[in-house]
Amino acid sequence: MAVEQKQFQTEVSQLLDIVIHSLYSNKEIFLRELISNASDAIDKARYEGLTNPAVQEDGGSDWKIKIISDPAAGTITISDNGIGMNREEAIESLGTIAHSGTKEFLKKVAGSGKSSDINSLIGQFGVGFYSAFMVADSVTALTRKRGDKRNTATLWKSDAKSSFTVEEADKATGGTDVTLHLREEDKNLINEWTVRRIVTTYSDYIEYPVVMDVTKPVKDKDGKSTEEKETTEETLNSRKALWLKDRAEITAEEQNQFYKHISHDFAEPLKTVQFKAEGASEFYALLFIPARAPFDMFHKDIKYGPMLYVKRVQIMEHCEELVPQYLRFIAGVVESYDLPLNISREILQHNRQIPLIQKNIVRKILDAFAEMKRDEPDKYKKFYAEFGKILKEGIHYDYERREPIAKLVMFESTATKPGETTDLDEYISRMKSDQKDIYYITGANRNDLENSPYLEGLKSKDTEVIFMTDEFDDIIFGTMGSYAEKSFKSVLKGDLDVNAEVNEEKVKQYEELIAKIKESLGEKVVDVRLTSRLKDSAVCLVTKEGAPDAHMERLLKAMGQPVPIAKRTLELNPDHTLIKKMKEELAGKPETISEYSTLLYDQAALLEGGRPENIAAFINKMTELMNSNL
Ligand code: ADP
Repeated sequence: MAVEQKQFQTEVSQLLDIVIHSLYSNKEIFLRELISNASDAIDKARYEGLTNPAVQEDGGSDWKIKIISDPAAGTITISDNGIGMNREEAIESLGTIAHSGTKEFLKKVAGSGKSSDINSLIGQFGVGFYSAFMVADSVTALTRKRGDKRNTATLWKSDAKSSFTVEEADKATGGTDVTLHLREEDKNLINEWTVRRIVTTYSDYIEYPVVMDVTKPVKDKDGKSTEEKETTEETLNSRKALWLKDRAEITAEEQNQFYKHISHDFAEPLKTVQFKAEGASEFYALLFIPARAPFDMFHKDIKYGPMLYVKRVQIMEHCEELVPQYLRFIAGVVESYDLPLNISREILQHNRQIPLIQKNIVRKILDAFAEMKRDEPDKYKKFYAEFGKILKEGIHYDYERREPIAKLVMFESTATKPGETTDLDEYISRMKSDQKDIYYITGANRNDLENSPYLEGLKSKDTEVIFMTDEFDDIIFGTMGSYAEKSFKSVLKGDLDVNAEVNEEKVKQYEELIAKIKESLGEKVVDVRLTSRLKDSAVCLVTKEGAPDAHMERLLKAMGQPVPIAKRTLELNPDHTLIKKMKEELAGKPETISEYSTLLYDQAALLEGGRPENIAAFINKMTELMNSNL
């Protein structure tokens, strides 16, 4: 087959543009990225070799990553005996971007254009193979797929303009050699000592030997250097499987580098959780809480979960069975000594060890959150801002652990300053002696909620109300029902304790007016009644308990969900002058009562964030009333 020229996918061109006009101050990480790819490729070869002898034989199992640096020619080659790529795979893998996070990133960059934004965004993801172009003006990859019957290799070449070429080539064994031709100004990065330093700084934990030929003077029998020289292959990295080591033996720097290797995150993790589980299920875990949520946290098909190793072999890059969905942001490695080596996804789902491992991990992670909340509140605040919304899903989906998870929830309330948060235990400690329930109000943001008429009654009694501003809070806390034996009550719904203050005598006084309003509103409402929820406002609409409130209704609608609009109860404030006057003066004016009822209903709809059914009619009526007053 002849030389074939191909265009890079648009996103790759965009990415290369950013990479080349280097926004990265730290160019040397190109080597880490390429070593990381080589290590991943060996992981795959090793795993496939377990079941496919052809893969095993084509290149042997003396796994290694060799660095060949030629400062005179200005080239460096990273050679591995991993899985390799066939022609189609090379075109696909080295010409497109698979990571949805990277695509998302590019979209943001394109939309922003500000280089300060780009700099802060770029820290959030790795560019992998394409980082080679930070230092090289041309790159080749000579690759051969292990165990491929066609037995031919592929030579991929690019100078990063907008295209690359592929052609057939010769290569004795399976694996990949990536060769970089360095730009003049970056040639200093490939001398022996720099390479050594880069490898030990960023890739020391890599499981396979990263080797390099080193030429040194031969020593005589007294240990003195002679004129003669010899070349030996030296292993540069210490190859420690970090998760198998004692916590005390690992430095924070090693952990951070390892995290970056496995997560494609450029930022350091917020916290590390390492432990060895003994007993019913024996495993090692090294887990990380990232500092920032990846772009794809809310994508339906994200791959999540720590890597799974069994007896020193990587079985899966993401093992979803090891963590529940609400901990999908946790990265890391789990190595088990109880699982069989040939474990597949299907077997995994029925294996009895897996739920035990998961349970253990969840407990450790939730404990780590609780500890962070107690001992490092500032850090926890950062964590919560990134992942709180996801964590809260656990209250809904993990019934058994809903209380410990709810304990971790942070929120603002009528008792906190804007931007400051509190939690449920603190809320309960501030509850009035006669207060039975935990009050909350849902909405888009604190600003909107703070001035909500629904809070008037509680505010006047100095009762604290929680501001819940995440989309699904109402569903989550509504279904949770209670915390520490105190019920959650939405102030937008149902009966409130404060309503007990509306005494029978008042109800009697307003009986007639209420009946008339009810009659004129007809089907629009389920009921009309008095309330002490309000102080300055005359009316409001409330949903019945258990039904989605107005905020939720709007959200569901915006998401394209079919929403049965729940009919509301119209509540009247008997202490409001307007309502009082209506009672006293409108008894004999059915027409006016009917008009006023519609106006009151429309007002209440506005107050709950909705709109009058017939806006033109509403405005006409208002104008008419204003006119008649002049
Ligand atoms: P990532 O490694 O994050 O998937 P890269 O851009 O670094 O992204 O690499 C893209 C793909 O190219 C990899 O997923 C892999 O399939 C392939 N690849 C890169 N380097 C190698 C290699 N040394 N051996 C085999 N495949 C490789």
